[in-house]
Amino acid sequence: MQINRRQILGGAAASAASLSFPALVQAKAASAHVVVVGGGFGGATAARYLRQFAPHIQVTLVEPAERFYTCPFSNLYLAGLRSWDSIGHDYDGLRKAGVNVVHARADNVLGDAKRVLLSNGQALSYDKLVLSPGIDMRWNALEGYDEAASQLAPHAWKAGAQTQLLKKQLQAMPDGGKFVMVIPANPFRCPPGPYERAAMVAHYFKQHKPKSKILLLDDKDAFSKQGLFMQGWKALYGDMIEWVKQADDGKVTHVDAKNLEVESSFGTKHKADVLNVIPPQKAGFIADRAGVTDASGWVPIKPENFESTRVKDVYVLGDATIAAPMPKSGFAANTQGKVAAAAIAAELTGQPLPAAAFANTCYSLIGTDYGISVAGVYRSTAGKLIEVPDSGGVSPMDGNAAFRKAEADYGAAWYKAISADIWGG
Ligand SMILES: Cc1cc2nc3c(=O)[nH]c(=O)nc-3n(C[C@H](O)[C@H](O)[C@H](O)COP(=O)(O)OP(=O)(O)OC[C@H]3O[C@@H](n4cnc5c(N)ncnc54)[C@H](O)[C@@H]3O)c2cc1C
Repeated sequence: MQINRRQILGGAAASAASLSFPALVQAKAASAHVVVVGGGFGGATAARYLRQFAPHIQVTLVEPAERFYTCPFSNLYLAGLRSWDSIGHDYDGLRKAGVNVVHARADNVLGDAKRVLLSNGQALSYDKLVLSPGIDMRWNALEGYDEAASQLAPHAWKAGAQTQLLKKQLQAMPDGGKFVMVIPANPFRCPPGPYERAAMVAHYFKQHKPKSKILLLDDKDAFSKQGLFMQGWKALYGDMIEWVKQADDGKVTHVDAKNLEVESSFGTKHKADVLNVIPPQKAGFIADRAGVTDASGWVPIKPENFESTRVKDVYVLGDATIAAPMPKSGFAANTQGKVAAAAIAAELTGQPLPAAAFANTCYSLIGTDYGISVAGVYRSTAGKLIEVPDSGGVSPMDGNAAFRKAEADYGAAWYKAISADIWGG
């Protein structure tokens, strides 16, 4: 029998279908082992959905952290609108779904031998390997900004100790202080993220330090949902937030973390009370070790299944990939994880490759009752990822207060739903 995409994407239908596979196919799948590296948005999704689509396949998820803290809603944590605990998720739900979870780091991939070497000394053999390692920072790509500097001027672009450090610094800042954020050129993780962060820090300042200012120094001239952000900033925070585009001297070329000072390409110096530097990025290091990155530091993939174009049987998801026009978002990584899981399940059980379709919505919160969004649907056509014409778009500029409140509520519902979908809660 053939499984169509609808069956493969519907968990119950996929489980039922798997029961009727011929014995030979079941036996082949039963001995198959898929190793997934990275228990974030892409990897944890792929691991869970592989078990759902083909319960006979053994799935091992490799992730160092016992609790994963999400970047989504970490800006709300900075604002005081979410507790730290509420953005953390453990792996019990994945274990219950039959995924073997190993808390270790993958240190190397031996592609020819099809083995992954772990920090705990284990070596895992695989039939298929999925990598969803997220991003690493390009230390020193921005002069003066290395790992030591991030302890003084945090990036807070991976949720964890960095996010908590930035929050402590904001809390310690006197009223009337200046928060400076350095924003990189594209591509980088979460295109609307810096601008949501500006709004959430402004929300916190408005409550606790209303004389303070926010300066955004940007290495580009336009950004995601720009008109909506600027409208919302003005409406809720007046002149508190100033955005400087690249053409107006926004590009930072040097960071002096000790003195909390940055210098622009025009030679202008800015002194901060709290300095948040979001540096240029690349795919997580294991992608490089697996030999799947190109000269850009990111990973080219086949859009129909997210298999690497460079190394067979290695699939790469999420922020690490070159998947434009899809953004580097958690939602995108989640749909890519489902597409790759369906493709791997189909291949390991001798079924045809299902058609690939992807979606994304990025909600951003500007104030407690003020949300905005951008959405899109994407398809793989003739070896390319394309955005389906007229499939999405951004919130209307003339949305009224009820509309903005509804989008804030949808954003909270999205977070709850995607957390349950990936980690089980
Ligand atoms: C401030 C901010 C706000 C954001 N808000 C949103 C939002 O509202 N909506 C949205 O959709 N997206 C949002 N994002 C983007 C989202 O966080 C990322 O796009 C998403 O996390 C990408 O998923 P991923 O699987 O590629 O990486 P991640 O989710 O980062 O997961 C990577 C995992 O791999 C693990 N790992 C790395 N290397 C190894 C290794 N060698 N061995 C084992 N494990 C390894 C890491 O520990 C990590 O757990 C936001 C990002 C930021 C910074």
